[in-house]
Amino acid sequence: MALLPVAEALARILETAKTLETENVGLRDANGRTLAKSLDARVDNPPFDASAMDGYAVRADDTAKAPATLALIGESGAGHPFSGEVKKGETVRIFTGAALPTGTDAVVIQEDATASESGITIRETAKRGDNIRPAGQDFTKGRTLLESGQRLTGRDILLAAAAGHATLPVVRKPIVALLSTGDELVEPGTALGPGQIAASNSFGLAAVVEAAGGEARLLGIARDNHQSLAQFLESAEGADVLVTIGGASVGDHDLVRPALERAGAKLNFYKIAMRPGKPVFFGARTIGGKRQHCLGVPGNPVSSLICSRVFLVPLIGRLLGRDVPLDTIEAVLADPLPANGPREHYMRARLDLSTSPPQVAPFKNQDSGLITALRHADCMIVVRADSPPLAAGSPVKVLKLDI
Ligand code: AMP
Ligand code: MG
Repeated sequence: MALLPVAEALARILETAKTLETENVGLRDANGRTLAKSLDARVDNPPFDASAMDGYAVRADDTAKAPATLALIGESGAGHPFSGEVKKGETVRIFTGAALPTGTDAVVIQEDATASESGITIRETAKRGDNIRPAGQDFTKGRTLLESGQRLTGRDILLAAAAGHATLPVVRKPIVALLSTGDELVEPGTALGPGQIAASNSFGLAAVVEAAGGEARLLGIARDNHQSLAQFLESAEGADVLVTIGGASVGDHDLVRPALERAGAKLNFYKIAMRPGKPVFFGARTIGGKRQHCLGVPGNPVSSLICSRVFLVPLIGRLLGRDVPLDTIEAVLADPLPANGPREHYMRARLDLSTSPPQVAPFKNQDSGLITALRHADCMIVVRADSPPLAAGSPVKVLKLDI
């Protein structure tokens, strides 16, 4: 099988993914969730003509010949509206956020008024509407405030709450099961025996899944034998996505693909033109009556994280009904790059956004065994397959490592 270009692999993954069901959550659980339907205002904001200042509510006409002394007949405080009607020659003490009393059409700030025995003397002529926030100035009932498919932020939630919503319709979080595979793996923190290493990937990937809006489920570590793999693959029931880590090349101990196929998966592709990340595979199976996407990422920690950024994050986005383009930015190379081979190369690098255009410096050592280099990188240069050598200053595409 020819190596599949990255863009084609991603397109094949995304075309199989449909938006998950809608559920309602309270405002306190809405942060970071994806809105499933557009949201309309249930009320006007402000719901009533409100004072924007502390001062006196007046009929503007009464102040036409300032100074003018008006009779104080009451008070309107926030949450405590004045219930009467203000007639010619009268005024009401008013505070920020309070409803404008019937009959008045302006608020004079307290700095422009003097209280005395004879009443309130307004020193400046007021214009109709002064210091008033009219009802519906911000939004009116029925207006669409938030679009479906957007990820909710604090500002969105504030707006939804102001618009009269206590719960919001959001897309259910995709459940992403993460399965480590390998006889050499032990849980992080365990004293390492001969030949053992920590199963670090699943923890990094769980964080990536959650940042992308999914719910991560760590299945544990399957051993490199058919029985163990079969058991763990069963335990992924209920997940929308199963991510297997490692065991996917063609070595004697790379049993994951055959195990998955035995567990009912149909693979769409299993080799892509990507470096790092050649042995990525993707397919689907039905388990417990439910369709499950199956993504295989390489075991190498650097590769697993980069492949998850490129394939898993967009897949989660699509299941959430969002478009998550691989939004690369343009930068120029700080150093030259050699010609690239037949696989798109995701090179660890650091981006300097203080220059225009931004400058990107690839790391000298691109060994995918260097987890510290991955940690130090803040972006990847995406060098296209079969690229000729690139001189310093050449434009390149850069994908920020926001995970
Ligand atoms: P594999 O794809 O299974 O041949 O694994 C490639 C390399 O990644 C090997 O050095 C494995 O020990 C390592 N590896 C595999 N799975 C994990 C994991 N979950 N965490 C950390 N390293 C892993
Ligand atoms: Mg392995």
